[in-house]
Amino acid sequence: MADSERRPLYVGEPNLPDWQRFEEMFRGIFERRFFANHGPLERELDGALAEYLGVSHAISVVNGTVALMLAAKALDMRGEVIVPSFTFAATAQALNWAGLTPVFCDVEPDTHNLSARLVEPLITERTAGILGVHLWGRACDPDGLERLAQERGLKLFFDAAHAIGCSHKGKRIGGFGSAEIFSFHATKILNGAEGGCITTNDDELAARLRTMRTFHDSETRVPVALRINAKISEAQAAMALLSLEHLPENIQANRMRYFRYRELLSRIDSVAFVDHAGNEASNYQYVVIKIDRAHVSCDEILRALVEKNIHARDYFSPGVHHMAPYRDVPQPDLPVTDELSASLIQLPTGPSVTDADLVRVCDSLEEIVEEAGRA
Ligand SMILES: *Cc1c(COP(=O)(O)O)cnc(C)c1O
Repeated sequence: MADSERRPLYVGEPNLPDWQRFEEMFRGIFERRFFANHGPLERELDGALAEYLGVSHAISVVNGTVALMLAAKALDMRGEVIVPSFTFAATAQALNWAGLTPVFCDVEPDTHNLSARLVEPLITERTAGILGVHLWGRACDPDGLERLAQERGLKLFFDAAHAIGCSHKGKRIGGFGSAEIFSFHATKILNGAEGGCITTNDDELAARLRTMRTFHDSETRVPVALRINAKISEAQAAMALLSLEHLPENIQANRMRYFRYRELLSRIDSVAFVDHAGNEASNYQYVVIKIDRAHVSCDEILRALVEKNIHARDYFSPGVHHMAPYRDVPQPDLPVTDELSASLIQLPTGPSVTDADLVRVCDSLEEIVEEAGRA
């Protein structure tokens, strides 16, 4: 069989729950005729997430982007928020939606994340907060950033969209800063067919968020500036609850693929496996490689992989500061962000990706790199 006719492999393949269980949960929704507005599944999901993440409160919402907007709004900031450019566009744009201005910060070359060292020089009298991103599920310097935020009187929250099930020094991500947000988009390890949540250990912040997420009755009714329809539906909550139940086994399956990739990739020149998990718990949802650009370009590799029906991805490329609307105003030079954007590739992993598929991806990569060497 020609390489181009072999089974396509994609990045971000969804995890699906057991169909029978899903049907049962859906039958319950039909029987209750209760589709949203603080229903039993939303309440169950909020409780299950708080327990799993080891936090006082989880507030489920319709998606991760809205979770970011709500968290930013509920933290009552005005002015600027320091944020990485090496992230998904939603991280920065959610700040604009909340009436804030993102100020882009470069990331550390070894962690791909913000650090207190990089953030501190950007703090001015206009700075209201810091929004860190736990990229690939690797913690974004929570100790350094918590210390810095405390010293300078800034709000600190985290985009943990990649990081459910990940830890920092043995503590689950979800409890750092004032709040963290998660996404249950179908490409994330916990698939709610869209969905997300905000986690916090701050009772007052949680009460504000619960009031803000709906115009209807909620378990809280506290004074807030604005409310929005951000509530998760019972249908999404059903998916998310089942996906949370399956999370440990999905992490375990990802983990097998992650370490197998690490082993297979070790023999290929010009390609370095990014071990973002280190010795922490990870969900292993992201398999990232760094290309030696002196030898071969990401574009060359991606193009050659597509010919073999392997749909790897270059993300995040370009950095958010190069995209609309930010590129229309002067932006700082972010050399590490630019370098990472041009040299990182995501490889396919997911429930249907077999060991033979991993061998196929790595053999293909080896062939492409060797070919580039001869050219
Ligand atoms: C997926 C993602 C989001 C947005 O989540 P949605 O649920 O798709 O709105 C935000 N930030 C990062 C880093 C993400 O990967």
